[in-house]
Amino acid sequence: MKKDTIAAISTGMTNSGIGIVRISGDEAFHVIDKIYKGKDRLKEAESHTIHYGFIIDEEETIDEVLVMLMRSPRTFTGEDTVEINCHGGTYVVKRVLETVIKNGARPAEPGEFTKRAFLNGKMDLSQAEAVIDVITSKSEYALQSSISQLKGSVKNKIEDIRKQIIYHTAFIETALDDPEHIEIDGYGDTLKGVVENQKAEIWQLIASADSGRIMKEGIQTVIAGKPNAGKSSLLNVLAGKDRAIVTDIEGTTRDILEEQICLGGLTLNMIDTAGIRNTDDIIEKIGVDKAKDYVKNSNLIIYVVDASRPLDSNDKEIMGLLKDRKVIILLNKSDLNTVITKENLKEELKLVLEENFAEEIPMIDISAKEEQGLSEFEETLNEMFLNGDVSFNDEVYITNIRHKAALTDAYKSLEKVLESIENQMPEDFFSIDLMDAYESLGSITGETIGEDLVNEIFSKFCMGK
Ligand code: GDP
Repeated sequence: MKKDTIAAISTGMTNSGIGIVRISGDEAFHVIDKIYKGKDRLKEAESHTIHYGFIIDEEETIDEVLVMLMRSPRTFTGEDTVEINCHGGTYVVKRVLETVIKNGARPAEPGEFTKRAFLNGKMDLSQAEAVIDVITSKSEYALQSSISQLKGSVKNKIEDIRKQIIYHTAFIETALDDPEHIEIDGYGDTLKGVVENQKAEIWQLIASADSGRIMKEGIQTVIAGKPNAGKSSLLNVLAGKDRAIVTDIEGTTRDILEEQICLGGLTLNMIDTAGIRNTDDIIEKIGVDKAKDYVKNSNLIIYVVDASRPLDSNDKEIMGLLKDRKVIILLNKSDLNTVITKENLKEELKLVLEENFAEEIPMIDISAKEEQGLSEFEETLNEMFLNGDVSFNDEVYITNIRHKAALTDAYKSLEKVLESIENQMPEDFFSIDLMDAYESLGSITGETIGEDLVNEIFSKFCMGK
């Protein structure tokens, strides 16, 4: 069946050096030949070649361009593909696209190129989803986990497990059909071992999703500390620019500032709160109450202590909020004569919190002013959220909640298989639940999901991808 030829601007819509209009489909070469003026007829040109010339709209020359030709099937979409590299002004790129559309292509929907790549078998759904994750990556870990998924880490793992499941299901079905020749008595014992292994593998994938989510989306982080402890200064150092207002007057950080900061490969979605203290100023009070809310809902609290001044009631109030949360304490202003040591602080924390909990909170001496202690802070973060060792070579991280949900369903089905074995149910019970697990896993690679869901996934893509 002939599919329409689609086209879109694949580069960002701001003025830039180069803009790319991409065309994909059976008519791609036909369309370009109608609007391209240069030495060669592109329809006859070899695949994977680049041609210099002009884009012409009837009599009018629109732009000077380089045209890249790629013949099916060795292309991203698997279809004949043309990429027009034109000048990157927003108007000129739009004019080139208009000319392409006028000559037989239709505008692509968001994500339609990648959807075609998926439908044409160039990649599975987990790889297609990784494409968008690569584009939206904001930190090194987010990029690395997306690239590894794009290269097929999730796909291969899921396919492995599915292969085993189908093997055993097929065996059971065949044995039940042909009881004279195939012995199935006692098969439950063999299957038990296999299913237990698979359950463990799937569990490991589900467990990786916490780290995966943190790699992809970042850590919801709150900076807490009494006024003037140096919270804004720390945020500015980490963000590398003067974003928050830093002053000597207590209570100036009244608004809640949010900043994304990349640190040690991770993204911290940082919220700088109004200094937490008892206050009569109404506006400041709103900020303080909000700060307390943020503290409750965060993944991480960075408690900044001014080590040059004694602890006071404000510090004690903050300590009360730390219980059962992930916390890193930064003893700031270590460049000055400090009056608070880690030992003092630990004693105080033990009075407010449980002894064991207080013992485990990491504490680091830093100076926001002199930019000291920050690499230790980075290491502590990695240790805390990713157990310090991240390897994309031999470990698969699940970063997509859709995948996690499917894995959880598969896990539950495998649990049912084990139950049936345990209760010595007839063998066809095993295969029903095995097939459910097979189906759930297949939704990750896209083999067992409906068109509606596929459309929904691709509709979240950006234009031109
Ligand atoms: P915030 O109210 O917690 O946001 O505190 P600020 O970041 O506004 O800092 C309060 C004051 O402490 C400012 O005068 C900063 O310059 C100063 N300050 C912050 N960090 C340090 C540090 O590490 N060493 C020294 N000596 N001063 C600092």
